[in-house]
Formats: sequence, C-alpha cells, structure tokens
Amino acid sequence: MITIDPLDTIDIRDLTIGEITNYLIKIGEPKFRAAQIHQWLWKHGAISFDEMTNLPHTLREKLSNEFSILNIHADIIQKSVDGTVKFRYVLKDDHKIESVLIPVVGENRFTVCVSSQVGCSLSCSFCATGQMKRKRNLSATEIYEQVYKVNQYCLNEYQRPLTNIVYMGMGEPLLTYKNVKRSIDLINDESGLGMSTKRITISTAGIAKMIRKIADDGLKCKLALSLHAAMDHKRSQIMPINDNDSIDELIESLKYYYQITKNRITFEYILFDQFNDYQEDADALAQLCKHFPVTVNILEYNPVMGVDLVKSSTNRFENFVKMMAHHGVNVTVRRSRGKDIDAACGQLANKE
Ligand code: SF4
Repeated sequence: MITIDPLDTIDIRDLTIGEITNYLIKIGEPKFRAAQIHQWLWKHGAISFDEMTNLPHTLREKLSNEFSILNIHADIIQKSVDGTVKFRYVLKDDHKIESVLIPVVGENRFTVCVSSQVGCSLSCSFCATGQMKRKRNLSATEIYEQVYKVNQYCLNEYQRPLTNIVYMGMGEPLLTYKNVKRSIDLINDESGLGMSTKRITISTAGIAKMIRKIADDGLKCKLALSLHAAMDHKRSQIMPINDNDSIDELIESLKYYYQITKNRITFEYILFDQFNDYQEDADALAQLCKHFPVTVNILEYNPVMGVDLVKSSTNRFENFVKMMAHHGVNVTVRRSRGKDIDAACGQLANKE
C-alpha cells in the first residue's frame, strides 16, 4: 500500500470555491457539493474530510485521496495577568508564528492581532520580528486560521466572538497583499466568519504603491500606518523602509487613499525615550495630521532584547500626549499590555 505524505498533496483550502466546483465537475460529482465543502472548511473549520457528514462516503474518500487539510496548531499559549493571551502557532513546515488576543471584557471588545509572514524583511530596529528575517509569506488559509482559532478561544472563554481584527503581528501585510486580501474575503464571507470589513485594520510600515492599490481595489477595511517618527532622518534610522518610501511619498499615497475611501487613517506612534518624544517631533507629527482625518495612536514600547531604544519616561510620555492635544490632534493612548509574557511582536515565535 502506498502512503501519501499530506505535504505532497494540495491543501483544499488553497482552492477557491470556483476551483472546487471545477474539480467536482471533472470527477462527475454535482456542483452544489462545492458550497457544502466550502462551509465545512470555513464556517465549521473542519480538520478532516470525515467530518463532512452531508457528503457521500465515496466523495469524502476521493477528496482525501486528492487533497489534505493542513491545520496550524498552538504549541504555546501564554496568558498575562492583564488578560492578554498570546498564541504560538506551528505551521505545516514547522515554522512558528504568533497571534495575540486583547480582551477588554468590560467594553465587550475582543481584538486579535494576526501575523501575515514568518519573520519580516523590513528589519525595523525596535522589533523582535525584524531580527528574525523573512522566511516566507503566510497563505490566506494560515492567516484566516489564526482568526478562526482565536475566535473559537474567545467563544469558549468569554462566550463572545471577536469584535476586531488587526493585521499588525509578524510581517508586513502589504508585502503579501494577495493572501491578506483573500483572508479578508474569507473572514467577511457569510460562509466564513461573516465579519464586517469595517472591523478589520491593516497596519503597514508604509508601502506607498500598495496603499494606492488598496484604495483602487475598494478594500473596505481600515488602514493604519506605523509612523513612529515624523521626520525622514529619524524614521530612516529605525525603519529602513523609509529610504524607499519617504514620509512625503507616504502622505501622497494616503491622500489618494482618503480621497477614494473617505476612511479616517490611524498613525501608530511608539514613543522612544529622547528619540522621537521632543517638541519638534510633536510639531512635525501634527503637521502630517493636517492632510486628512487622522487618529494618532500613541503606544508604549515593549522592550526587546538587544535593542538600545527604550520606552519614554512617564513624564515625557504624558508631555508628548499633551503637546499633541495642544495641536488639536485626535489622540488615543495605548499602554503596553502583556508585560509578564513575551509581549513584543515576534518574541514568542522566536523563543526556543
Ligand atoms: S515592525 Fe512590522 S514591518 Fe517592522 S520589522 Fe517588525 S513586523 Fe516587520
């Protein structure tokens, strides 16, 4: 008897519903089975063809001879005293990625932060993922599965589904745009999680031409730019991508994005002590906020081993928030969470 290695077969979830339909026609099965298979895969998160009980046994057998379902699984789950939960997922090729659940139970807000790549090629100096280098992009399925599994966890623990999804974990989502877009379509689809795209945010380090593409494609999710410095000479020091797409170029692409989508944009701004927390930084940042409606999300830094940058002192942090308020900029503040676990992005996946 020949045993087929599942890694040598196609993961059926990499096929679109149209491709599954074509396959069914080719093997002489009725077309309507495609919708049933699709539901099992995306709505019920089936991990084997045996679960698909409304399919005839013979079809289930054909499918399992031809295809596989290669699920990701969590090998470590860390829970912080503040409620933040970090999941390390193992992929079919043994690479590891992470997702984070940030529950705010009182407000009924359950946000998951998902990864889009294994490692990252952009090498931001403050980031643990940036130290890992990029190994590969995640497939749409691997991105979707993070959301699906964390949603299940949320339902079990809090009897509530996820309310928000942010593409802000490991990797740069706009460098794997096709897969990110398909994962969003699946999350949004009624036969998937049926979640509104308005609850989804793509956070980018800043790829100008892809920001324009999101607008052209009519992708209805929200957009956040990881800015972290409002002057090129400082931004390039911590984010090498800035040498390709300068702040001016990013602002032009965001103007275009806003013109088409009318979506408010978020600037993410981590405060680093005596680096980007001076009056001149606040002034430059406020200038950038004048081109379109913006919310600046000011973040506390989670320390990463081997990185010289440290979080701003409490005084400097509060002072910066005041300076922005003085400029009339719409600001939200996010204190670091999960300090007692491997909180910084990439820390848990990198842990051996
Ligand atoms: S901050 Fe984001 S873009 Fe920069 S290295 Fe880390 S994962 Fe990549």
